[in-house]
Amino acid sequence: MKAAIIEDIKKFKITDVKEPTPDNEKVIINVIKTGICGSDIHYWDAGEPKGLIMGHEFTGKVSNPGNRYDLKIGDRVTALPISPCGHCEACETGNPQYCAETWTHAVGLSLDNPGGLTSTIAVRPDMVIKLPDNVTDEEGAMVEPTAVGLHAVHLADIRVGDKVLVVGGGIIGLVSAMFAKLEGAEYVAVSETNPARGQKSVKLGVADEWFDAKDPNFINNIMTKTQNGFDIVIDCSGNTKAVESELMSVKAGGTIVLAGVSQKPIEFASIIAVMKEITIKGSIAYTKEEFKKCISLISNKKIDVMKFVDDIVPLTDTQKAYERLTSGTDDAVKIMVDPNQY
Ligand SMILES: [Zn+2]
Ligand SMILES: [Zn+2]
Repeated sequence: MKAAIIEDIKKFKITDVKEPTPDNEKVIINVIKTGICGSDIHYWDAGEPKGLIMGHEFTGKVSNPGNRYDLKIGDRVTALPISPCGHCEACETGNPQYCAETWTHAVGLSLDNPGGLTSTIAVRPDMVIKLPDNVTDEEGAMVEPTAVGLHAVHLADIRVGDKVLVVGGGIIGLVSAMFAKLEGAEYVAVSETNPARGQKSVKLGVADEWFDAKDPNFINNIMTKTQNGFDIVIDCSGNTKAVESELMSVKAGGTIVLAGVSQKPIEFASIIAVMKEITIKGSIAYTKEEFKKCISLISNKKIDVMKFVDDIVPLTDTQKAYERLTSGTDDAVKIMVDPNQY
């Protein structure tokens, strides 16, 4: 079968790989659609690890249910891509996102567990979730990034009437803005360096307004608009420079949730955080409950995630899709890959 593997810095190769063999434990899934995630872009950028088959946001059909006796061949499923140990304190308290093993064997994020940029994958049975019939294949592949936004917004603890700034108008930013509104935020703004994405956040109805983060008057503009700043700032940019302006734009007593990821150190004068008594929280992934909640919100038509899907491309166009998502000028936020077309 064909797979898109990381070959080098910003470079995929379409190559033949071995199909997984059923072991009566893992669920073998024929992938139908796979979403490209912002976190995948970090691996593509770095060109490492070589040979990695990404794709942790997917819908597929069960071809072998393994030890999931409740599943049948042909059932449509998605899965939490994570690999929590199941018995540490974090796992036992329903917080697998804190488990030290959660990312070590994650599907599409580790060499030993290929993701959906190929046509057949093996997934540990306890992470597989059957999709309701009225959830489409594309919606199923949207569950994972939607759950990331839901978790960030849950941690933000938004109260009715709050003013919320979402930094970064990529898919996690847009989903977070959508949930911020649902949580009762009175005013939701998105800041972006790419005007096409900024405008899109307003056009899609998830933001009331967008601000150009590159504008030298950026802080002035948002302070004028909000008077004292935002109650909540949710960072979905992973841009270290953005954090400094987030400290400026959050209200005294406000909260900053960091959902974007960066490995670069951040330099800021702690006096700002101290004097304003700012709470800074990290946000990673989701709980299993939040993941399931997103499936039910989609199934019950409480949220529309399809408005965020820009394109569906064949496996051979994976490279082009990544280039489009990182162009800095295109407004695309979510491109899906059909691994069976090449
Ligand atoms: Zn993702
Ligand atoms: Zn654990």
